[in-house]
Amino acid sequence: MQLQIVSNKQVSKDTYLIKIDNPEVFDAYPGQFVMVRVNNYNYPLLRRPFSIYNLSNTIDLLYRKVGEGTSMLSLKKPGDSIDILGPLGNGFKIKSDKKLILIGGGIGIAPLCFLKKKIDERKMNCETYFGFNSKDEICVDYGNIATIDGSFGYKGNVVDMAIDKIEENSLIYACGPTIMLKKLALLCHEKKCNMEVSLESRMACGMGVCLGCAVETKNGMSLVCSDGPVFDYKDILWEKM
Ligand SMILES: Cc1cc2nc3c(=O)[nH]c(=O)nc-3n(C[C@H](O)[C@H](O)[C@H](O)COP(=O)(O)OP(=O)(O)OC[C@H]3O[C@@H](n4cnc5c(N)ncnc54)[C@H](O)[C@@H]3O)c2cc1C
Repeated sequence: MQLQIVSNKQVSKDTYLIKIDNPEVFDAYPGQFVMVRVNNYNYPLLRRPFSIYNLSNTIDLLYRKVGEGTSMLSLKKPGDSIDILGPLGNGFKIKSDKKLILIGGGIGIAPLCFLKKKIDERKMNCETYFGFNSKDEICVDYGNIATIDGSFGYKGNVVDMAIDKIEENSLIYACGPTIMLKKLALLCHEKKCNMEVSLESRMACGMGVCLGCAVETKNGMSLVCSDGPVFDYKDILWEKM
């Protein structure tokens, strides 16, 4: 789909919010993503995956500038056209009989913000815990915030902030750095609770063709793009991550 950019603004350190016109107003499950061609030439050749951060009459993506593709994306202006493919992948499953806890690290908060919106629309409750390295990276105006350097909110990592709130009846939705997800997986095992994790492996096609985003699970190899990106944490072989 060739669509028009409505706005593309920096919202915190190295973090941008791009709003893309959504003329057909398609909907998506929280956790699903789109593959973006970051410019209209053939370089970089591969599309880049981004979680859906919000959907309305615009498709909103929250992205961190980490390399060539995201740097090019950050230079896009309102009115420029952009080619996106999606929505792709599966999504988080919202369950009403659990204590819902959202835990995001860094730019991993993007799919969780869309999930929070969907939970709110159902008039259900959830707790949100978001972690950043420092105050200047914060790009959300709600939730319990942890910063590693203590410049805002809880001083330390987001898992330590949330630890006392996790109970047997909790269902955690998590996205963030692998080290954070591994720590949470151990905690869920100890507390006998459930967790759905959104994984962010590198991927080329986004549709299960190139096999570039394979992860090892208890059921063999799975593809983050087409079997995921959301997985039951119990299915992942964390020692191989
Ligand atoms: C399903 C999915 C959803 C994603 N959602 C978002 C999102 O909402 N917002 C966002 O900012 N990013 C998201 N990402 C990560 C994003 O796709 C990468 O940051 C982006 O492709 C980097 O492109 P680049 O050309 O700027 O970086 P490159 O020049 O390709 O790489 C720069 C650096 O970033 C690292 N990197 C590149 N891709 C990834 C990746 N997938 N995971 C971890 N490290 C990577 C590289 O190892 C390298 O160190 C998502 C990834 C997946 C798989």
